[in-house]
Amino acid sequence: MACSGCYSVNFMAVSSNPNKPLTSSTLLTSKLSSSYSQIPFSSLNFNSKLSRIQLHKSNTAPNSFVVVSGIKAEPLKVMISGAPASGKGTQCELITKKYDLVHIAAGDLLRAEVAAGTENGRRAKECMEKGQLVPDEIVVTMVKERLSQPDSQEKGWLLDGYPRSSSQATALKGFGFEPHIFILLDVPEEILVERVVGRRLDPVTGKIYHLKYSPPETEEIAARLTQRFDDTEEKVKLRLLTHNKNVEAVLSMYEDVTVRVDGSLSKEDVYTKIDTVLRNVLGQRQAAIVLLVFPCDMFGISTA
Ligand code: AMP
Repeated sequence: MACSGCYSVNFMAVSSNPNKPLTSSTLLTSKLSSSYSQIPFSSLNFNSKLSRIQLHKSNTAPNSFVVVSGIKAEPLKVMISGAPASGKGTQCELITKKYDLVHIAAGDLLRAEVAAGTENGRRAKECMEKGQLVPDEIVVTMVKERLSQPDSQEKGWLLDGYPRSSSQATALKGFGFEPHIFILLDVPEEILVERVVGRRLDPVTGKIYHLKYSPPETEEIAARLTQRFDDTEEKVKLRLLTHNKNVEAVLSMYEDVTVRVDGSLSKEDVYTKIDTVLRNVLGQRQAAIVLLVFPCDMFGISTA
C-alpha cells in the first residue's frame, strides 16, 4: 500500500482475540514507540470508532509519516463550585442536558443518606443542620463510589459541591479522579442570602422555585412547597462562612484548570459563558488527541 491521501485501517485483523477488537490505546502501546511530530488539526478527520483508525498523509511532516486519528476522547470531567444558591443546580441541569454528563451532587447524595435513615445519614444530618461540613470519612467514600459507577466512567461526570476542602480534593486525587475543568460561580453574599431564603422545593416534581423570582405556577403547587431544612437565613450564613473558609484552599489545588464565572448574571448568560468554556475544553482535548504523526513503515505502508 503506497502512502498517499487517507487510509482507513481495520485493526480487528491484528487483534489477538477476534471477539475483542484492539482499542487505539492498546495499539499505540503495543505497536508504536516512535517519537511523534505535530501537524495542523484542521487537516485531520476525527473517527471515534475505536477498532478502525484512519491514516492520513501529513501535509507538513515528511512523506514517510502518517497520522493516526480515531483515538476516542476520554469523557469530560467537570467540577463546579459556588456558594449556596450561586446557581449551581440550574447550571448543572443545563450542562448535563447538553453534554450528557452524569450529575453528581454531594449534597444530594448526603440528603439521600439522611432520608434513608442510615447511621451515616444521622451523623451527616447533625452537621448539615449546623451548616458544617460532613466528615470526610462519610463524604469521600460516597462520592468516590458514585464516580466509579459505569455510567460516570462512560459518559463523564459533573461533580457539584465536592471537593469542599483541600483534604477532600487530595483524597479524590489519590483515587485518580481529576477534572479537566473547575468552574467557580462567583456571586456577592447579599444576593446569595436573598436567593436561599426564598427558595422552595416542590416535593412532587422536584422543581425548585423562588417565592419572588420564580414563583409557583398555581395555588395547588404553592400549597405543597417545602423549604430545605438548611435554607434558613441563619443556616445559610453559617454555610457561607464555611464555604468562604474552604474555597481558596480548594481552588489552589485546581489553579491551572479553574475558570471563574460571574454567577450574578441571568441564568442564560451564565450558561452561555460556561458552554463556551466547555466547548473550548472539548475542542482542545480532541485536537491534543489527534496530533500524532508516525512513520508509515510501522503500518506496513510503503512510501514509494
Ligand atoms: P449543598 O446541597 O451542596 O448546599 O450541601 C448541603 C450541605 O451538605 C452542606 O451545607 C454540608 O453540610 C453538606 N455537604 C455537601 N457537600 C459536602 C461536602 N463535599 N463535604 C462535606 N459536607 C458537604
